[in-house]
Amino acid sequence: MRIRDLFQARPFVLSVEVFPPKTEAGDEGLYRALERLQAYQPGFVSCTYGAGGTTQGRTREICRRIQSDFQLPATSHFTCVGSTRQELLDWLELSWQTGVRNIMALRGDPPQGQTEFKAVDGGLTHANQLVELIRQHYPEMGIGVAGYPEKHPEAQDLDTDLVNLKRKVDAGADAIFTQLFYENANFLKFRDRCVKLGIEIPVVPGIMPITEFARIKRITSMCGAVFPTSLASRLEAVQHDAQAQFDIGVEFAIQQCRELIDAGVPGMHFYVLNRSESCERILEGLNLKPA
Ligand SMILES: Cc1cc2nc3c(=O)[nH]c(=O)nc-3n(C[C@H](O)[C@H](O)[C@H](O)COP(=O)(O)OP(=O)(O)OC[C@H]3O[C@@H](n4cnc5c(N)ncnc54)[C@H](O)[C@@H]3O)c2cc1C
Repeated sequence: MRIRDLFQARPFVLSVEVFPPKTEAGDEGLYRALERLQAYQPGFVSCTYGAGGTTQGRTREICRRIQSDFQLPATSHFTCVGSTRQELLDWLELSWQTGVRNIMALRGDPPQGQTEFKAVDGGLTHANQLVELIRQHYPEMGIGVAGYPEKHPEAQDLDTDLVNLKRKVDAGADAIFTQLFYENANFLKFRDRCVKLGIEIPVVPGIMPITEFARIKRITSMCGAVFPTSLASRLEAVQHDAQAQFDIGVEFAIQQCRELIDAGVPGMHFYVLNRSESCERILEGLNLKPA
């Protein structure tokens, strides 16, 4: 089912994001996780597209398996990195033929070693152009785009970033999926500002359950997400106890998601990092397992 239809058909759309593993053991772990998460009937499972387009074929293959082996709609992430307009169109055509009907349309990050994003000759410079390209050639495709409640790291301020987000919406995006965050107040302010700008499509919070403190510190420092000091102190106090960190992560996420659900969010996008345990415990805690 396409993203826009999903949000019309369901009052709450759960989605999960995975990435293409690099090893066979990784593949097995991913498919085990999907098997378990199937019980929660996610509206779709999305698969990332590696930095610099390194996972092109793998992303497509995993999307195919999500649909054929797990009977769940797949959303393929797709970036502008390293591709000309024609190469982007070729990849879109292959994905369409594979049965992909949803794309997470992204610009992507600059390749390793570069600080600034530069389009290749004949390529695209911003995600709104990719949304436009998809809409023009595949009007029936579902399109998700990225939003940044705490601002994209390159943007000079949140107002400018929001104007750029609106460009993606005006180009034809169906829903916004946000960068991970841990301060709900920042998400709620962002959502209000989207409404003020006339953005009417669903704004879906991105949730990354904390499973390991060291890993989450790395991730938040890369994407610039604010990490609450009280939560950091709790995790620091158990830095040598993996199970305690996991449990605190689950407890925090249940509380975070409860508040968001109370605030009327249209769904939640879980960054599950190819593991199901934490997500399952959170969804159980939220009573989100279908009867
Ligand atoms: C839900 C989600 C999924 C992701 N999945 C992947 C993935 O699979 N693979 C991957 O490599 N990365 C992924 N990313 C990361 C993403 O590629 C980076 O954050 C990237 O730096 C920006 O991508 P974007 O699509 O938001 O870009 P854009 O929307 O193009 O924004 C990038 C920057 O340019 C500015 N900008 C945007 N449009 C314009 C314009 N027309 N004129 C001037 N300035 C403009 C924005 O304010 C922002 O600062 C994901 C992020 C999220 C939130």
